Amino acid sequence: MNPNFLQTPIPYLKGVGPNRAETLRTELGIESYRDLLHLFPNRYLDKTQYYKIIQLQPSGADVQIVGKIVHLKTLEQKRGKRLVASFVDDTGQMELVWFRGHKWIRENLKLNEPYVVFGRTARYGNTFSMPHPEMELLSEHQQGLKVAMQPIYPSTEKLSTKGITNRVISKMVQQLFLDCKGKFPESLAPSIIEELRLISKSEALFNIHFPKNQELLAKAQFRLKFEELFFVQLQLISKKILRKHKIKGLRFDQVGDNFNTFFSEHLPFELTNAQKRVIKEIRKDMGSNAQMNRLLQGDVGSGKTIVALLCMLLAADNGFQSCLVAPTEILAQQHYNGLKELLGKMDVKIALLTGSTKKSERTLLHNQLENGNLNILVGTHAVLEDKVQFKNLGLAIIDEQHRFGVAQRSKLWHKNEIPPHILVMTATPIPRTLAMSLYGDLDISVIDELPPGRKPIKTVHRFDSNRLKVFQFIKDEIKKGRQIYIVYPLIKESEALDYKDLMDGYESIARDFPKSDYQISIVHGKMKPADKDYEMERFVKGETQIMVATTVIEVGVNVPNASVMIIESAERFGLSQLHQLRGRVGRGAEQSFCILMTSHKLSEDAKTRLQTMVRTNDGFEIAEVDLKLRGPGDLMGTQQSGLLNLKIADIVKDNQILKTARYHALQLLKNDPRLEKEENKYILIAYTKMMQQSNIWNYIS
Ligand code: ADP
Ligand code: MG
Repeated sequence: MNPNFLQTPIPYLKGVGPNRAETLRTELGIESYRDLLHLFPNRYLDKTQYYKIIQLQPSGADVQIVGKIVHLKTLEQKRGKRLVASFVDDTGQMELVWFRGHKWIRENLKLNEPYVVFGRTARYGNTFSMPHPEMELLSEHQQGLKVAMQPIYPSTEKLSTKGITNRVISKMVQQLFLDCKGKFPESLAPSIIEELRLISKSEALFNIHFPKNQELLAKAQFRLKFEELFFVQLQLISKKILRKHKIKGLRFDQVGDNFNTFFSEHLPFELTNAQKRVIKEIRKDMGSNAQMNRLLQGDVGSGKTIVALLCMLLAADNGFQSCLVAPTEILAQQHYNGLKELLGKMDVKIALLTGSTKKSERTLLHNQLENGNLNILVGTHAVLEDKVQFKNLGLAIIDEQHRFGVAQRSKLWHKNEIPPHILVMTATPIPRTLAMSLYGDLDISVIDELPPGRKPIKTVHRFDSNRLKVFQFIKDEIKKGRQIYIVYPLIKESEALDYKDLMDGYESIARDFPKSDYQISIVHGKMKPADKDYEMERFVKGETQIMVATTVIEVGVNVPNASVMIIESAERFGLSQLHQLRGRVGRGAEQSFCILMTSHKLSEDAKTRLQTMVRTNDGFEIAEVDLKLRGPGDLMGTQQSGLLNLKIADIVKDNQILKTARYHALQLLKNDPRLEKEENKYILIAYTKMMQQSNIWNYIS
């Protein structure tokens, strides 16, 4: 095969002309032979059987029938036009139906010629009907490549109205295979192929498009999934190696007064073993010559803040400034207050910078940052703005990364001549192997232990109809001196509606909990910050027993005496959000509760979410369920990491293959870091090609 064969622009393929090429490009992103070759079928249909019309059953199965169209008519309906063909064989009559694409079909269908039709049938009255069948003239069908399993390619409405049906795509792929005689260059090393008993590249590509049987299809899928994940891993791992060698880091080799004084005099509790281990890992990174780029995962309440503080003190000991960036103003404020309190009388200069910092204060702050008088800056996105300049930023910590884009993370790199060490903290844990492949360029630390003495939160699901019992429970808890959160959803698209829900809820709670006996705080997004703070403050001080709020309290807030979290319309929350909210209680020594309130109308997914919350407190387990329900698309970093561009593998479902691929990529780079060995030459060629083509990888500046 000509080495550039696969680069050939798609219009050159027989049967594709410029019009079809344009549609293929806009609808499926296919521009070259390679793109078409890598358009893998979504599913396969067994076409070894032909049915007679008399044999049809109302099972809804996909069937293949040989017959002729004897009549074609358009029916007007309230909902639009239908094109109906009367289709017969020697046993009976049925209908073929189209709701769109009439023009093309009318112009191209031949009456009274034998066709093979394929599709799902349904019975209306006594007649079977097949909507949008796949059709092929029997004469062509007999000439076509004989495949046992029919591939079904991704399609769009536009493709089918333009006549680029599944059959047409399949024909194009066949043409491509004919043109190159089905030979494609190998891209893996013989040793890997042998060890994993993989089929060859050519065999895999053939069987993914035209599987001879189920077994070969499975082998083709395995080979191609493995290969895809292998090359992604190869790229991520080499990137990390490159960073460790090439990107110079600031070396923090001093442990000085700040760290030591804090450790011996101000630390309010003994660190957990997990916290100690993580701090050790971070110190090792910051003490080496390479820049740290580390992800710190730890469940809600696992104590990440103290780890952050110790690292920032270490930076100060080495003469560097640090910043701690939080996603919301409330959280930034809390961090600032919390850190200030922890530091007590220590001589560490710390300040807060958010969107609502006054201009005069801001100017002062900028000066202090630039002349180095400030050690620690806590803030929101405001910290990332270009006009915020540091004298010598040595460490940047980002809290709750899932709300930050990667682009923002990379902004921090430019705040110093040598990039600062970066620590990203998240309470939304994801399975480790997945994390490694998503953030292959990050190192990972995990706090997998909660501070001692925490009682697991008891979680229950209650229907709205049980509200009175729930209210009684609240009253009992308040009698014991506890405080209660009641949270309402706040989803941007329906803000007005949510606001009404919240207010209605507040009123009904105010009725059941009269002012003579109970004090209630309310906090929501429409309030002025000063009013919000005031209400929050009252709850923190214990002046109010009930806090009615929207999800603004989701992150950060720390009121150890609050022991009950009631989540209204819990079916409307995502799993990780539910888990975050629940994390607001269970911070004191008392038994805490989380009550998930819902109506009776629940989707299957909602049921799974609720059951998961009731079953476990483990953030990692919850994250796995969440991932299965939502897919990885919503996870932080997935967009940028290119893992969503996978053609065949699925990082969740194919997690086992991912592990194997990662292992082999690591082995390869260990044994042959520059891919110089003869046996790895195919890998090198494929890898180089891939790097030339992709621009999805340069997400770290
Ligand atoms: P998160 O990881 O969710 O940010 P925080 O850092 O806010 O958790 O810590 C949660 C609570 O646990 C805080 O009140 C903190 O003071 C406390 N805490 C943290 N580490 C320990 C520890 N080792 N022992 C006891 N309490 C701790
Ligand atoms: Mg936190």
